[in-house]
Amino acid sequence: MKNIFAGIIIILALASWWLLFDSRAPKSAEDVFDITAYRALIANDQDLPAKINVEIVGTDELSKFLTETSAGFSKHPLYYTAFQITSPTMVTVIGGAVDGPTATEISQSDKATFDAAAYERLKNSYADADQIFITHEHLDHVMAITRHPAPESFAPKLKLTAPQIAALPRYAPASGPSSALASLPPFEILEPMRIAPGVVAAPAAGHSPGSLVFFVRRDDGQEYLFIGDIVWAISNIKRLRTRPRLLQYFFFDPSEDREEVLRQVRALHDITLQEPDLIIVPDHDGAYFQRLIDEGALESGFN
Ligand SMILES: [Zn+2]
Repeated sequence: MKNIFAGIIIILALASWWLLFDSRAPKSAEDVFDITAYRALIANDQDLPAKINVEIVGTDELSKFLTETSAGFSKHPLYYTAFQITSPTMVTVIGGAVDGPTATEISQSDKATFDAAAYERLKNSYADADQIFITHEHLDHVMAITRHPAPESFAPKLKLTAPQIAALPRYAPASGPSSALASLPPFEILEPMRIAPGVVAAPAAGHSPGSLVFFVRRDDGQEYLFIGDIVWAISNIKRLRTRPRLLQYFFFDPSEDREEVLRQVRALHDITLQEPDLIIVPDHDGAYFQRLIDEGALESGFN
């Protein structure tokens, strides 16, 4: 009887470790993000972006241990965002963020807020954009696109990959999916690709099949790597950790490719050591966004 009891305790302890704490990044991860190749693609570019704006559509808080294993129970500020990259010749918008109902549906705390004016600015920004991308096809990154009242008005400017397009009908409004989005031709990004002066998109499947990263060089030489949801908190990169496996069963459908995400975290960790001036920008880290805005790396609000 005593042995059975001890056995059950050991199994429960192992299960808790596996679900909540296990987050082992590989020792090395070569060629995951080839910054040298990204730079080569934009080496001769004129008209680099002068400004990178971030629209903060909603805010919330999440227990730190859910964004990063073993990070404790303090609250992590979570933002829902989209980006506008403006060069003299091209405006690129990245992201569709959340709408009000979705923000309410996925809120994790009683501190959750939704900025209806910011969401309007995001929706309106598609009219003036030359091209529109998303970092990935999750519900908190697509709603201004899928639930826009007139997707046909900007559909020709949407550059979404096949896995991204395949996910859109899930996030359609109650009236059903837009035919303009259903018939969207895929924009393939199978290798790093220059998409605008000073801007490169590269495939980064892992968190989702359609995840992308965006490398940007601003006209003053400052460089950025926008990484979507590879991590939710920038501290994960420093500490070489990812989210607890438990989230696979509650949040992610389909599941993340956890091994690949850990490889990407290792690669980003090593890049921060080799490229200390490169600014890595995840989509949700609220405290970090405030710092980037305060330092002038990003400007708050779309034009
Ligand atoms: Zn995501």
